[in-house]
Amino acid sequence: MSSEKILIIGGGPAGLEAARSIADLGGDAVLVEKRERLGGTPDSEGYAKLTHHWLDASEVLGKLAAAVTSGKGVDVKTKSEVKKISGSAGSFKVEIDASGKAESLEVGAVVVATGFQHFDPGRATQYYNYYSFPDVITLTDLEKMLKENKVVRPSDGQTPKKIAFIQCVGSRDRQVGNEYCSKVCCGVASKQAVELREQISDSKVFIFYIDMRMYGYWEPQIYWQAQEKYNVNYVKGVISEVLQKGNQLLIRGEDTTMSRPMEVTMDLVVLSVGMEPSAGTRSVAQLLGVQQNKYGFIEAGGATGIDPVGTSQAGIFVAGAASGPSDLDDSFAQGGLAAARALASVRRVIA
Ligand SMILES: Cc1cc2nc3c(=O)[nH]c(=O)nc-3n(C[C@H](O)[C@H](O)[C@H](O)COP(=O)(O)OP(=O)(O)OC[C@H]3O[C@@H](n4cnc5c(N)ncnc54)[C@H](O)[C@@H]3O)c2cc1C
Ligand code: SF4
Repeated sequence: MSSEKILIIGGGPAGLEAARSIADLGGDAVLVEKRERLGGTPDSEGYAKLTHHWLDASEVLGKLAAAVTSGKGVDVKTKSEVKKISGSAGSFKVEIDASGKAESLEVGAVVVATGFQHFDPGRATQYYNYYSFPDVITLTDLEKMLKENKVVRPSDGQTPKKIAFIQCVGSRDRQVGNEYCSKVCCGVASKQAVELREQISDSKVFIFYIDMRMYGYWEPQIYWQAQEKYNVNYVKGVISEVLQKGNQLLIRGEDTTMSRPMEVTMDLVVLSVGMEPSAGTRSVAQLLGVQQNKYGFIEAGGATGIDPVGTSQAGIFVAGAASGPSDLDDSFAQGGLAAARALASVRRVIA
């Protein structure tokens, strides 16, 4: 029997936007989120301010989650996961584990919004020593400290005065196997550099980059501000290793503008780790039998080859970072589009 209900897997920015849009369009959705809370990675990793609007992450995600949980049309199941799915477009039979209880659902379409995880810097081919030196941290480690307004060196609790970001860790790297650009890390590092300069006014902040990639309004609202108003130092260079020198960190590499070797000491080093498909994205893709690309992200394109939310299976749509590196604008836009496509598909099947 066909069903007009739509299953959304994942309650991050993309899944929440899909749920809200389905409800706004008069549809009926069930949202399955494996964590106890909605809000996705910005919530689980405790993001502070969001680019490019500089809004508070908890407030933005909180409003979106409230719109979904307080309105009609969306049945939210947290601490829940899809265990089995069978059938085809218009009529899928789904078995879920909802907070430890087995439940069965009939749905007409599925939106996958299971997102990404951060690259594990222990896997990098470069010698950045994330797991050996406490003062080598990642963007997400720093984001949590910025949110608390308490940026310190993990080794001794002192306020760092010289801080370096190393860009493209785990992205644009053939040896690691991730040749793609993770899209947000240049913007996020620049945003964090501004916040560092605001929170530690006598700090010196350096960003070592291959090339800076800013999109649309991120350029004037983050990059120019960081340089012109906050005196963040951008250095075009490749860092090959990070070593301990006394109680500081020695960064070694090449200044590619000057074509000369470079060695500088820092108090804190921040690795701009990129995006990889989350474990949930990989396992849900297998469960649903949708095509993945060589990196493990769900292949978007659909029947036309250019549909940003279509997958290799009719009736199954993808939104946000489950299909590749995405910022919030991408994730919201794709969540809304996936909602419209999913709703159109079930209504066509039923008619
Ligand atoms: C350090 C950092 C800072 C960032 N800051 C910004 C910023 O300021 N501005 C910006 O535009 N972008 C930023 N981004 C990017 C932003 O985080 C992503 O665009 C966004 O989180 C993608 O949303 P999503 O819903 O696709 O995925 P996610 O946020 O990853 O959400 C996926 C959800 O799916 C759930 N899930 C996973 N597997 C399953 C499963 N099997 N069953 C049920 N649920 C499951 C997860 O628990 C999670 O809730 C940042 C990224 C990083 C790395
Ligand atoms: S956004 Fe910047 S840091 Fe991130 S992968 Fe692309 S170029 Fe590298």
